Amino acid sequence: MATAGKVIRCKAAVAWEPNKPLVMEEIEVAPPQANEVRIKIVATGVCHTDLYHLFEGMHKDGFPVVLGHEGAGIVESVGTGVTEFQPGDKVIPLFISQCRECRFCKSPKTNQCVKGWAADRYDVMALEETRLTCKGKKLLQFLGTSTFSEYTVLNQIAVAKIDPAAPLDKVCLLGCGVCTGFGAAVNTAKVEAGSTCAVFGLGAVGLAAVMGCKAAGAQRIIAVDINPEKFEKAKVFGATEFVNPKDHSRPISQVLAEMTDGGVDFSLECVGNVGVMRSALESCVKGWGVSVLVGWTDLQDFAARPIQLIAGRTWKGTLFGGFKGKDGVPEMVKAYLDKKVKLDEFITHNMTLDQVNDAVKLMKNGQWCLILSGDKVDLLERREHFQDPVLSCFQP
Ligand code: NAD
Ligand code: ZN
Repeated sequence: MATAGKVIRCKAAVAWEPNKPLVMEEIEVAPPQANEVRIKIVATGVCHTDLYHLFEGMHKDGFPVVLGHEGAGIVESVGTGVTEFQPGDKVIPLFISQCRECRFCKSPKTNQCVKGWAADRYDVMALEETRLTCKGKKLLQFLGTSTFSEYTVLNQIAVAKIDPAAPLDKVCLLGCGVCTGFGAAVNTAKVEAGSTCAVFGLGAVGLAAVMGCKAAGAQRIIAVDINPEKFEKAKVFGATEFVNPKDHSRPISQVLAEMTDGGVDFSLECVGNVGVMRSALESCVKGWGVSVLVGWTDLQDFAARPIQLIAGRTWKGTLFGGFKGKDGVPEMVKAYLDKKVKLDEFITHNMTLDQVNDAVKLMKNGQWCLILSGDKVDLLERREHFQDPVLSCFQP
């Protein structure tokens, strides 16, 4: 390729500081170093976690940064020592790497590779050894990925090769939200056939969790959201019943207990609100109920009465739905191509990278917003927005 070994100048949306609009800039993307892969990003989703970093997190040192971590693209060139990838391969960047060598990669029990760029950076959530610069300043790579750019560079342990037949403007959703929700149900909760499940929060992550519960053979899937507009969409993914906490004066756990003879078998919190996390736990049946934290927050502690666990409930969490990226993402791409999982139904808008601030605004205002595709990066929008913590369905 003509660009191999050279610095690439391209467009990227740069977050210079927190709480400010992203700025379209021409940036320089360095050639990949040893074990690295330079990728032309073709499509990317906008995930709540990008906005969390921009507006909600406390990481003032996490700027300037190029956000975006739910992307798909084509390998442009590779550094020395890379044998797994070649220019032209279709790939999905991974915010949780899979080195296949560390203690965690060797265990089937977790996906938390110890060598990952983002593995020990939950506090900053950005990679300092960046290959991106703008106006002489280094730009941090959010979660090591930075998909709001026409080109990015990742270590090969954080890249998944996918089927060449995969449409990148759809499968980019497997880079975060859809794998997270689906895997939370299938891999982490290990939802059982014939069971009753409750999914709290029906954004992309929650809808994917509903889809995972259905794939696992759940008999009843109760979808819980304070926005009734979400219910129609949840039905498409397999929800059988709907509960709006705003329709009830009692705690939602009581409502669910009455509907299910004492509580659900599995509950999944896909909001990122500590009050809802507690509600989801308390909605599980004693004896064997399993509740999974999927929603993201590190700003607050959560609380629960010990008796909830003493009585036999299990409380656990999931990162990226427990998928080991290099193994799991190509399998999910195949499941999409085989029509076993849905992706198109998540997408409501296609936008270009230039419109990224419109996408961010739509997400903030709770509008449907989605992603990008095309020869320049397009923004695929997804229903993403900030929940109002005051609207927690659990009143402590
Ligand atoms: P989203 O904002 O699109 O969806 C959240 C949904 O929750 C909305 O439909 C909203 O109406 C609903 N909601 C808000 N308050 C509620 C309440 N009190 N009760 C019931 N429903 C309520 O978000 P998303 O992109 O689907 O992401 C969901 C969460 O998952 C976020 O916190 C995100 O950061 C997190 N996340 C976690 C991982 C992980 O690896 N664990 C990965 C990706 C995203
Ligand atoms: Zn590893």
